Amino acid sequence: MKYLSTRDKQIRLSAAEAIKMGLSRDGGLLTPETIPVIDEAFIKSLIPAPYPVRAAKVMALYLDDYPEAELLSFAGSAYGADRFDTPAAAPLRKVDDATYCLELWHGPTSAFKDMALQMLPRLLSAALVKTGETKTACILVATSGDTGKAAMEGFADVPRTSIMVFYPKDGVSEIQEAQMVTQEGGNVGVCAVVGNFDDAQAGVKRIFSDTAIRDTLDKRGVFLSSANSINWGRILPQIVYYISAYCDLLRDGVLVMGDKVNFCVPTGNFGDILAAYYAMRMGLPVGKLICASNRNNILTDFLRTGVYDRNRKFYTTMSPSMDILISSNLERLLYDLSGENDAEVRGYMAALSRDGKYQVSEGIKTALNGVYWGGFCDERGTSDTIGRYWRDYGYLIDTHTAVAADVLEQYRAATGDRTVSVFASTASPYKFCDHVLDAIGQPPKGTGTALLDQLHEATGTPVPTRLAALKRKQRRFDLSAEKADMDAVVLNFLK
Ligand SMILES: *Cc1c(COP(=O)(O)O)cnc(C)c1O
Repeated sequence: MKYLSTRDKQIRLSAAEAIKMGLSRDGGLLTPETIPVIDEAFIKSLIPAPYPVRAAKVMALYLDDYPEAELLSFAGSAYGADRFDTPAAAPLRKVDDATYCLELWHGPTSAFKDMALQMLPRLLSAALVKTGETKTACILVATSGDTGKAAMEGFADVPRTSIMVFYPKDGVSEIQEAQMVTQEGGNVGVCAVVGNFDDAQAGVKRIFSDTAIRDTLDKRGVFLSSANSINWGRILPQIVYYISAYCDLLRDGVLVMGDKVNFCVPTGNFGDILAAYYAMRMGLPVGKLICASNRNNILTDFLRTGVYDRNRKFYTTMSPSMDILISSNLERLLYDLSGENDAEVRGYMAALSRDGKYQVSEGIKTALNGVYWGGFCDERGTSDTIGRYWRDYGYLIDTHTAVAADVLEQYRAATGDRTVSVFASTASPYKFCDHVLDAIGQPPKGTGTALLDQLHEATGTPVPTRLAALKRKQRRFDLSAEKADMDAVVLNFLK
């Protein structure tokens, strides 16, 4: 199977090349030329299978240059007991008879990014071999918190890769900083940048486009690559858990084969909910995909009006991983809904960069409304939902998950749809102790890792072991740089 650019179908690459490159040279997103179909027999065969087997079988449908046995060995270690705290990897938790929560934060960094960032490094390092690449890949990441840690944890000590993460000095939580500066691995580097996230990101983009740096690194046998969610190697592992959730609902007798299920997903860059869409297009019986946003509700407006308009105020919220105004992966959805019309997609994306907005055709709008429903939840609603879930169900959820839980209720109230629904839980509440404590009526006392204990004592829920261990971990990195010196940091790191 080939991978095509959403902006130019003539660009055709193998899966390994697509994963190695991340983004197409024309700026488009590399997307499978056909969507493989699964039938009832396939779904049935996955019901008794452990998570790594489910993952290998689903991913093999898309990656014909990776033998299934190779994928199985990758999935076995990616989702293994030394990395995930449950063999189910992505377990379902029942809320009530019609509502289930898909917990995606049981991996090493307690955020859903682990589901993909534990697989991507293995896929990428194999891609180097498959494509005859002789150089080492250096992954550069600018992070606002979650992605940097999950990417380092995934790439640590992966052969023929290295990773350098830049984070804004005063822009991440104390827990997030502690997670990053204690990271182990011989091929990792971390540096605080004086400035905000945009400064760190602008610095990384500048390094990517600097041909002098590229030449220097080339002579040292290194090329730069990226691990953000436009890489197909990050979307594919996410398709697996939607199919896996359906298998679990069949296994537990909640559904019978063919029954529909709705998925509600807290959305930022549109990667997670796009994976649910691919699962549906593959033949998984899905009713509606419910796209949940926080106060940055650009997607809610888009789904209701067909106009995507980023000319609006940006809000910093308590669900920071969803604070985003350009949802890059939407481009893959537009490509599919337009009937793979690359010229049409190219037009929308040109309008977005020229005017900051575009309006989709009537055809796309109708198709969108057939599949998606969009809603948003503000700060007050997020906090109230965490409190209500704790009181009513004894279930402690984080700020991102709460947005999804609330929007699912809005959807039901608006439509009367009683289809069994699954909402995605994307982070452990222990990553956002301060907001979660406030929401359950326990004002936070102290800062940083001290709050882990307070939340544990207030709720009796277990602290994820790796977060609890942060207190005892050695700080390994103490590097900090001005924005202008980031190039030197990279060149020094790759010496
Ligand atoms: C990244 C992230 C999201 C948003 O996922 P997208 O794939 O970017 O839509 C939601 N919640 C958490 C905790 C995240 O880290």
